[in-house]
Amino acid sequence: MNRTSVIPHFSGSYVEARQQFLDAAACRRATTQSFVLPHYTGALGERLSIDTASLGAADADRMLILSSGTHGPEGFCGSGCQVATLHDDDLIARLDKSGIALLLIHAVNPYGFSHLQRTNQDNVDLNRNHIDFDAPLPANDAYAEIDPLVLPDAWPPSQEHERALGGYIARHGMPAYHRALSGGQYAMPGGMFYGGRAPTWNNRTMRTILRAHAARMKQVAWIDAHTGLGPRGHGEKIYAGRNVSADLARARSWWGADVFAPFDDESESPVVSGPVASIAYDECPDTALGLIALEFGTLPFDEMIYRLRARHWLLRHPDAPAAQRHAILRQIRDAFYCDHDEWKGAVWAQTRVALVQALTGLANA
Ligand SMILES: [Zn+2]
Repeated sequence: MNRTSVIPHFSGSYVEARQQFLDAAACRRATTQSFVLPHYTGALGERLSIDTASLGAADADRMLILSSGTHGPEGFCGSGCQVATLHDDDLIARLDKSGIALLLIHAVNPYGFSHLQRTNQDNVDLNRNHIDFDAPLPANDAYAEIDPLVLPDAWPPSQEHERALGGYIARHGMPAYHRALSGGQYAMPGGMFYGGRAPTWNNRTMRTILRAHAARMKQVAWIDAHTGLGPRGHGEKIYAGRNVSADLARARSWWGADVFAPFDDESESPVVSGPVASIAYDECPDTALGLIALEFGTLPFDEMIYRLRARHWLLRHPDAPAAQRHAILRQIRDAFYCDHDEWKGAVWAQTRVALVQALTGLANA
């Protein structure tokens, strides 16, 4: 393998990504564990699993986590960066020297990664599922009104349909439309950005992983890799922790002043209910946490939303003609993964910076 270039570390399918990850972990003599998703197989008939690779001393008290694929096809980006991390001798040497443990979590949503959909096997958006299900569910009554507008019976939507959606946006404003559409909804299991009614298999598995690896740590820095929002190739650091000033200050001291908080209206991301990283508060109650999503831009926002709508329409219409199905799947992959060398180079370079920043921050903590 050409280790002077990062390009070969990016894969074109979930199967290939998983194999590259496990091979790189074996090459680095990392400890691996696989959590197989029961009852489902991948788009090519393959086994689906969340895989972990860990490095570091058994008595380490600080840990760096890099996770991928929370939103299915966004995993092409995060997986490539995880494989690149494992092949990066300089980065691993810094890690060894610092005594900080590394945990890579590959394909948080393996079903969505393989089947090229944002949601998991239960149509749950995992970044809306990590809430307290014993408390009243977050309300989002506006979603029900939007659902038939964004997901018409026929695809592509008619001009009349798009005019009706445009009318809704004109009446309520773009921010209210985005909040209603993507903030998370708990009433329509077949709808978009659905948060579920109970913790998913992915949620429970991620909690198991965190408890086993991170609960004993004094400090944890967690980067969850995402794509689809913001300018193409730019990695926005989106704060993923609670609205607690000491935690936000910690994240900014590690990653810089450009850690944007959704609740301060600074980020490309809206405030969402129940992001995956929030489980660190439950599972690592005595740990000082630094939590961010690293969000890489791909396509203009409107185009990304249009392709997400198409993909969701396809979920509701599994009998769509094969040619249409293939076109929609291809477009969704391209919406979350720019299969171009310069994009991959930019994505890895920024991820590497964020990893070195986290290592430096943890070492000085
Ligand atoms: Zn995402």
